[in-house]
Amino acid sequence: MYLYSMNARIALEQAFVKVERGTGEELVDVSDRGKVRPWAKKKVDSMKVAELYKLAMDRGEELLTQSRYQSLLQCGNSLLFGEQNGKKRLIKANFCRIRLCPMCNWRKSLKMFSQVSRISEELLKEKSATRFLFLTLTVKNVTGTRLSETIDGMNKAFQYLFSENRNFAPAAVVKKNLLGYLRAMEVTYNSKSREYHPHLHILLAVKPAYFSRDYVAQSQWREMWRKAMKLDYEPMVNVKAIKQVSAKVIAEVAKYPTKTEDITKIEDEEQAIEALTTLHNALKSRRLVTFGGCFREIQRQLKLDDVESGDLVHVETEMKVSLNFVGYALYSYRAEIGAYIC
Ligand SMILES: [Zn+2]
Repeated sequence: MYLYSMNARIALEQAFVKVERGTGEELVDVSDRGKVRPWAKKKVDSMKVAELYKLAMDRGEELLTQSRYQSLLQCGNSLLFGEQNGKKRLIKANFCRIRLCPMCNWRKSLKMFSQVSRISEELLKEKSATRFLFLTLTVKNVTGTRLSETIDGMNKAFQYLFSENRNFAPAAVVKKNLLGYLRAMEVTYNSKSREYHPHLHILLAVKPAYFSRDYVAQSQWREMWRKAMKLDYEPMVNVKAIKQVSAKVIAEVAKYPTKTEDITKIEDEEQAIEALTTLHNALKSRRLVTFGGCFREIQRQLKLDDVESGDLVHVETEMKVSLNFVGYALYSYRAEIGAYIC
């Protein structure tokens, strides 16, 4: 029986399956790779972010509507798990999808990891000679007032380097060998200098000729980026070939950007509010992650949904296979003890 597409509770009642609740048992959710999933920690971080939103909005910043704020407060409050072979599988939860929510960003990072593993596996099956590069493009740190325009400029320069629709002579050799890319915009915050560091992490899939006839050295990448960004200084650029090519290695390299969580660690409250407001305004309604070329094509072929706007419950694609749960348990977050309890 499919429980995923329906309201899980109604489906469960119809199936006369008993949902365990009120047993007092604490949630321990272990991933297939043997790691205990940090549900309570993500919930604590998410509540810290909610608290900062409240403080900012009390000072007159119009950041979230009341109902969006409520969904942030309630993000991941109740988790319904199915159990099978001693393993737990999340089947229902409410996630707020607010850009700066640590709980939602963690779910997106699990989803991205799982998707990139599957896509890379497929890509290596179809084109086994594909080679991969990991590229980091940066600019000098900027103040909060210049963050938004800097991000715009970086996105535009990215297009010059990698889009077929943009003519940009210095990037011709790159485009000739490019099969696809994964692009992630990350913004870190330096609490000492109060500056922001926007940078792009890019995974490139290239034809083998890139490493022989058409090799592009790091200094050439820097020059290309400098020209595309129209900078009057030498930006920091890093490029690394991925030597041991496997789907897992590629997925580990292509991480969802979650560093915005560092605002929860700022000690000074006024400063934390200011950083939250700046990041909220600079990142709202922006795409942080883009799949391009072969990555996008295979994502479509495999019928995978969007990492940012898609399902955050079933973040591991193999989960959809296991349907015969032997039991169900509902856990709720209890703030007074900082844990999820059945
Ligand atoms: Zn959330």
